[in-house]
Amino acid sequence: MTNTLSILGSTGSIGRQTLDVAERLGLRVAALTAQRSAALLEAQCRQFRPALAVLAEEGAARDLAVRLADTPTRVAWGPEGLLEAATLPEADTVVTAVVGTVGLEPTLAAIGRGKRIALANKETLVCAGPLVMAAAARHGAEIVPVDSEHSAIFQCLQGCRDRREVRRLILTASGGPFFGMKRENLRTVTKEAALRHPNWKMGPKITVDCATMMNKGLEVLEAMALYELPLERVDVVVHRQSVVHSLVEFCDGAVLAQLGTPDMRLPIQLALTYPARRESPAPALDLLTCGPLTFDPPDLETFPCLELAREAARRGGTACAAMNGANEAAVGLFLEDRLGFYGIAEAVARAMDETPWTAEPTLEEILAADRAAREIVRAQAR
Ligand code: MG
Repeated sequence: MTNTLSILGSTGSIGRQTLDVAERLGLRVAALTAQRSAALLEAQCRQFRPALAVLAEEGAARDLAVRLADTPTRVAWGPEGLLEAATLPEADTVVTAVVGTVGLEPTLAAIGRGKRIALANKETLVCAGPLVMAAAARHGAEIVPVDSEHSAIFQCLQGCRDRREVRRLILTASGGPFFGMKRENLRTVTKEAALRHPNWKMGPKITVDCATMMNKGLEVLEAMALYELPLERVDVVVHRQSVVHSLVEFCDGAVLAQLGTPDMRLPIQLALTYPARRESPAPALDLLTCGPLTFDPPDLETFPCLELAREAARRGGTACAAMNGANEAAVGLFLEDRLGFYGIAEAVARAMDETPWTAEPTLEEILAADRAAREIVRAQAR
C-alpha cells in the first residue's frame, strides 16, 4: 500500500485522475512533474504541497519557482528534474504517467531505489522490457500496471503460482473511432476524426494510437514483458464496449476476465492500494443495462500497425525501440497535419527496416535506436 507518491506527468489525463484518487485515499504527494502545463501544475502544487515540482523547460520552471515562492515546493527542470522526482527518498511509489520514451530512464532510476512502480507509461516496457523487468527483480521493485488491460490481467493472475498454467492472455481492444471502416475510407482521414475515441478520454498521442490500433500493438509487447510470455500466447480481440478489460485463458480451458465501467480511476487506485482494495468513486457496472457484449477479430488489413508491433516482437532486440520511436515521431507529424493516417504505418515500417539492429541491447543502444528511428521518420517528412 502506498503512503507517499511521486507522479511523473501529473497534468495529463492519468496524472489528474491519480491526484483525484490520491486525495480520496488521503495519500501524501512528494513530487509532481509536467511537460509545460505550468498553470495547472501550480494549482496542483498549491493543493497537494509536494516537496518538488518539475517542468521540462528551465525558463518556465524559474517562472513557476517565483509563483510558488510562498509554498514549500522547490522547482526543478529537464531530465535531471524528472530523475530527481523519480528518486525522492520520501516517495514509496512512483506513478509513471509521462507519454513516450522520456519515461524510460526515470522509471529505471525509481526501480533502482526499490520503489513501487504504478506503471502508466507503456513505452518503458515496449522499448526495454527485458532490461526493466530484470532491474525490478534485482532491486525488489514491484511493478503494478495502470493500463486497464494489464491491470485486468494482473487481477486475473492473482493466485496463479505457475506461469506455465497460462495458455494465453487475451487483450481486448475498443477498435477505436474507425472500427468497421476500410482502407479506402481512411486514407484522407483527419486528426480531428482520429481524436474522437468512443469510450475513453485520453491524451492525443494515445488516442491516435487507438485509432491506428498501434496502442494495442504496444500493449501486446507490454504484456509479453510484464507477464514473461511469448508473442504466440498474447492474443487481441476487438470488444467495442470496453467493459471486459482483458482475459486470461488457463491450461484447463478456464477463462478469467475482469469487467468494469471504463473508468481509469479503478486501475489507478488498485495500483496504489494493492494488495488491498478500497471503495472507489467509479460507477459500478450494471450488467442489466450495459448492453450486449461483442467480440470481433482485429482487421489487420485496415489497421497494419498492430501487425507492425508484432513484427517488432518477432525481430526482438532494438526493433521494439525503433518501432516505438518511429511511431511517436510519426504520430507527432500526423498531429501537425504533415503525415496522412497511413503515413504513420508506412513511416514505422520503413524506420524498422532502416534502423541498425542489435540483439540484446544495452540501455544506450535502446536509446540510440529510438533516436535513429525518429530521425528516419522526420527526414522523410522534410
Ligand atoms: Mg489500454
